[in-house]
Amino acid sequence: MKKFLNGLLSILLYIWQLPQNIAGLILLLYFRKERKVWDYEGIRFYVAPKMQGAITLGQYIILSPYSATDTETFIHEFGHTIQSKYLGPLYLIVIGITSLLHAALHDCKESGKSYYHFYTERWANNLALKYLKRHNIEISYRTLCKLYESSSYA
Ligand SMILES: [Zn+2]
Repeated sequence: MKKFLNGLLSILLYIWQLPQNIAGLILLLYFRKERKVWDYEGIRFYVAPKMQGAITLGQYIILSPYSATDTETFIHEFGHTIQSKYLGPLYLIVIGITSLLHAALHDCKESGKSYYHFYTERWANNLALKYLKRHNIEISYRTLCKLYESSSYA
């Protein structure tokens, strides 16, 4: 019975996040040569050679080969998956579009500031840090510091 309910819950969760899940699948189709590197709590991490940076769309996280080597990015993107679960169909509007605009404007407008000063990014870090704490997941002190610095807790 528990297994059935868990299965049902993950289906409902997938549907709740359907717009970004579909966008994620389309992006994976576009990148094609991606490789699944990790599967955690239903979240799939992919590395795509043609990808730049990292993006989270529903239950799919797509990373560039470079960002896949960075624990901070892994954890940050995981924070976006929590936002996706909270916001459901609003994720693409609240997080997706504003993040894309911010990423596009960041370089020319505010090149001195950290990328993570933006609210969508800080919020993702806050959620990820809370998750790590709740699940007693230990990460390196250095990564923890970096995440804290770019969260609202700093
Ligand atoms: Zn982000």
